[in-house]
Amino acid sequence: MKYYSTRDSQKKYYSAPEAICKGLAPDGGLFIPEEIPTLTKEEINAFYGYEYNRIAAEILYKFFPELGKEEIAEECKKAYAYPNFDPSPAPVKVCGDTAFLELWHGPTCAFKDMALQIMPRLLRMSMKKCGETRVAHIVTATSGDTGKAAMEGFKDLEQTRITVYYPTDGVSETQKRQMATQEGNNVNVIAVRGNFDDAQSAVKAIFADENIKNTAAEQGEFLSSANSINIARLVPQVAYYVSSYIDLVRQGFIEEGEILNVSVPTGNFGDILAGWIAKKMGIPLGKLVCASNKNRVLTDFFVTGVYDIRRPFYATTSPSMDILIASNLERLLCFDFGPEQTKAFMESLKEDGIFSLTKEQLDVLEAEFGCSSCDDESTAQIIEHVFKEYGYTVDTHTAAAVMGSTGKCMVVSTASPYKFAPAVAKALELKETTHQALSKHTGTKIPAPLKDIYKKEIRFTRVVDKADIKKSLYLQ
Ligand SMILES: *Cc1c(COP(=O)(O)O)cnc(C)c1O
Repeated sequence: MKYYSTRDSQKKYYSAPEAICKGLAPDGGLFIPEEIPTLTKEEINAFYGYEYNRIAAEILYKFFPELGKEEIAEECKKAYAYPNFDPSPAPVKVCGDTAFLELWHGPTCAFKDMALQIMPRLLRMSMKKCGETRVAHIVTATSGDTGKAAMEGFKDLEQTRITVYYPTDGVSETQKRQMATQEGNNVNVIAVRGNFDDAQSAVKAIFADENIKNTAAEQGEFLSSANSINIARLVPQVAYYVSSYIDLVRQGFIEEGEILNVSVPTGNFGDILAGWIAKKMGIPLGKLVCASNKNRVLTDFFVTGVYDIRRPFYATTSPSMDILIASNLERLLCFDFGPEQTKAFMESLKEDGIFSLTKEQLDVLEAEFGCSSCDDESTAQIIEHVFKEYGYTVDTHTAAAVMGSTGKCMVVSTASPYKFAPAVAKALELKETTHQALSKHTGTKIPAPLKDIYKKEIRFTRVVDKADIKKSLYLQ
């Protein structure tokens, strides 16, 4: 397997371990594989007898063969074990015509755990392969869920440390608490006055800054990323599209070979891109619906072919989707239109805040993607409706994806409703918005990891202006 940068028409190749250690390509592009590996019919058939961790291992080995089949299998077994994931990593719940793929049974109750429980292990394996003796300093911007999930994945992992930046605007109280109380001796959390795009842009600038690189080197470190710009974040996510398809055949929701449409709550475009990759690998998925909230930059893009970030930014009840620059879209553009075109799009985006597809290019995307957008009011109505109709509780992000589902469809459920309890409780017209009130009303259990964050010690209180993000990394 060879990897290259989405902005490099010369296609300088990197091995999988190199791409994983680097995170972002030197030219600012993202690594993608030269070709997407495929699954044979026999391989898919064999998956019917496998548990989640074995399916994940098979997928990962296809993309990262240098890391070794047995080694990958061993690490997947540990990463996806019970009770780390309780009851299992990716169960599906059928409610009428809608199947919910529940990706929030991990340690932080959001789908980022699916990748971030295994990604640090893949990074360590890659560092060994590359003969890397320095400490990997993970620097990550988070819209709320990534940061916590990354810290859970990296905490006390040898030869690594992690700094997480999160925006003070638009992460939920629960999310703030989760981060401020993070345990581990190699973790650091810094709040940024601003929104997610401010934090993410600053982190991207950190990676492009030679001075910071030198400072890191002087301290025996190199910088790496846990954002979904790292290929080792993206590939593990392919596995649950494979496992869920198989589970839905087993449960009789679909026939083997039947085309399954999927609606995905989308922010940075990583989750839905993993679904697209699963489809390219041979899983019979149909339309991939890119579900947005009121920040509908992607909705407009899939309708008009114009990606235009010159617009107001809204803080919504689904904060993990409050994003205007969807990083992983760049990978899709490169797969479909090549690096030269992608580089031009990204330059235009950076300089003018906009790029436009041709009609032919838009047709290519529209053949595979649908889109929808859902404001806070509709989100609340959907939460109430799903509960009334099926006695099933969805969080705000998942509700936005229900908006994008028509007919028989799988909806990717990305967070536990408890993670966004105030908004969910309000939608259900509860007087109290506590976890306890939500539990009593819905008859569901409060997830163990959320139960005691209000008892834990606050360890991190630092807040910086966005202009000071770069400085703050090595000025602790
Ligand atoms: C991160 C996140 C999303 C968006 O996923 P992307 O891969 O960034 O598109 C949706 N919902 C929740 C709960 C998330 O944490």
